[in-house]
Amino acid sequence: MHLVPTQDEVVALLTQTGALRRGHFVYPNGLHADEYLQVALAMRYYQHAKTLSVGLSRLVRANPEINAVIPELSIVAPATGGLPVAYGVSEALRAHPVYWAERENENEPLHFRQYLEQVVGEKVLLVDDILRTGTKLMQLKRLVEASGAEVVGLAVVVYQPTPATPDFSPLPFYYLAKLDGLYYRDAASCELCQRGVPLEKTRL
Ligand SMILES: [Zn+2]
Repeated sequence: MHLVPTQDEVVALLTQTGALRRGHFVYPNGLHADEYLQVALAMRYYQHAKTLSVGLSRLVRANPEINAVIPELSIVAPATGGLPVAYGVSEALRAHPVYWAERENENEPLHFRQYLEQVVGEKVLLVDDILRTGTKLMQLKRLVEASGAEVVGLAVVVYQPTPATPDFSPLPFYYLAKLDGLYYRDAASCELCQRGVPLEKTRL
């Protein structure tokens, strides 16, 4: 394994731990896809979690502007699912606080816990296990910026874009592996449905 694991090494690790599955899946938003990814299944293993988060932190550290503010950098995740990566990256960077956003249900806006107050000008690195639809990460970016903090970068273990994934540029964006799954808007346009491949439902 390289210090920054290669795309192939990350895919092998995810496959071996059952985090990455090939087949025919329907997501809660109705998209059909030929692969399913649940990075949490790989993060169950401390050594794998460490390999991934240390690799990611090395990519982040290579950015001179971010490297210069590491001593005052907060690591923020959009939900608890990103926490293993967030803590791993924070440990590797020797960065400052880790915290996360949450919401009561899918229709509520993201918020931080009571008494968790951000500092105006605070430097924030957004971290998550996956960037897929980008909805939550975009909400988190707005939430962080609304309090006067500055988002300096975005780092995820896996970049798995869908046709609707927003572009975060010019924000520096880091990932260890990119997965180009096949996505279909619905059953009617899905080739896997047409070929009669058994369909598995996924939940978030
Ligand atoms: Zn289908």
